[in-house]
Amino acid sequence: MSRNQQLFEQSQTLIPGGVNSPVRAFGSVGGTPVFFKRGLGSRLWDEDGQEYIDYVGSWGPMILGHAQTDVIAAVQATAANSLSFGAPTALELDMAQLITHLVPSMEQVRLVSSGTEATMSAIRLARGFTSRSKILKFEGCYHGHADSLLVKAGSGALTFGQPSSAGVPPELAAHTLTLPYNDVAALEQLFSELGEQIACVILEPVAGNMNLVNPSPAFLNALRTLCTQSGTLLIFDEVMTGFRVALGGAQQLFGIKPDLTTLGKVIGGGLPVGAFGGRADVMAFLAPLGPVYQAGTLSGNPVAVAAGLATLQQLQRPGFHDELAAKTRQLTDGLVQAARDVGVTFSAQSVGGMFGLYFSEHCPNSFAEVMQCDKAAFNRFFHGMLEQGVYLAPSAFEAGFVSIAHSEADIDQTIAAARQVFASLR
Ligand code: PLP
Repeated sequence: MSRNQQLFEQSQTLIPGGVNSPVRAFGSVGGTPVFFKRGLGSRLWDEDGQEYIDYVGSWGPMILGHAQTDVIAAVQATAANSLSFGAPTALELDMAQLITHLVPSMEQVRLVSSGTEATMSAIRLARGFTSRSKILKFEGCYHGHADSLLVKAGSGALTFGQPSSAGVPPELAAHTLTLPYNDVAALEQLFSELGEQIACVILEPVAGNMNLVNPSPAFLNALRTLCTQSGTLLIFDEVMTGFRVALGGAQQLFGIKPDLTTLGKVIGGGLPVGAFGGRADVMAFLAPLGPVYQAGTLSGNPVAVAAGLATLQQLQRPGFHDELAAKTRQLTDGLVQAARDVGVTFSAQSVGGMFGLYFSEHCPNSFAEVMQCDKAAFNRFFHGMLEQGVYLAPSAFEAGFVSIAHSEADIDQTIAAARQVFASLR
């Protein structure tokens, strides 16, 4: 038995499902999860000493690659002065200055310790600011595991929320409305009926938790207009897209100004940091100034903030995001060509440093279309690639991530591996 298998068996006796976050258990693709021991740049090594090219990047944060020298040095230097104070630090001010500079719609910002805390807090703030209870989210978008957000739609038009997790009271879920992503007509109809009751709309401005789905410009424009008309706050959940699809996030890429933005992943550089912020008049509703309570023992933790600052520092190098986007496009173009060469039905696309792979003729535009992709083919592809030393997200419903440390040789090696695996799928 491999050490990975041994560790997984033992872990299952003490940790529910053997993992501390469900998708890690390989439930969707089957088989034994990989237990990692070390990473450097684009590469990972598991407990059995097997080497992989990494396209998960800890689900997004590792945009510079693993164990990046400057980030590690910043963490070590900051840690030497204590791990936490639970009091304000100059580092937090540096981070607030940088975030508000890079993402100008964020006039003020508060730091938290995860993406979930960021979205949960932003929604409470939106409800407090508007004195409304209902929120709107989109089918297939994930915003962390807060109760109000663990709700998904049935198919079709508007559905009043049903919880998609046990333990979420139906009375609470009923305040969460859901619509299909990219459906402008459904959005207009909902706002004409209920617009004035909706506190906020939250969306992933490039959806990355149902594989990757791009927003249509008409959808984003309709959202902005309808929210403004009805006094509903527009929240861009940029936990995944922030600093990754462009330096200023998806809002910069698409030229849409949300009222509030949530951040996570890249701003911690691999340590736990999240943030939410936006219009100063809205942020003034937060405690200690205003009536909306929000707090955290480790919020703004100096070591985590130092890792984030060191990461964001490097993203500001001119050309960083063009280079990252070009690498990512080279990967998806190469995969599409390799599949075409052997006659496998496959499509792929990228936005900045994130990408989607689909076993379907065309890239999907909604959750319903994502569900029509051939999941069994993805699972076989995933395991074939894993055997070839390429670590993809262990689910057909997750986006992938490229780091600036991925080299031409890494991408060529990945495409060559895929060529063999595609051939075996026919
Ligand atoms: N929002 C989005 C768009 C995410 O992708 C995630 C996590 O994947 C979250 C929120 C939740 O962040 P966290 O896992 O840090 O709580």
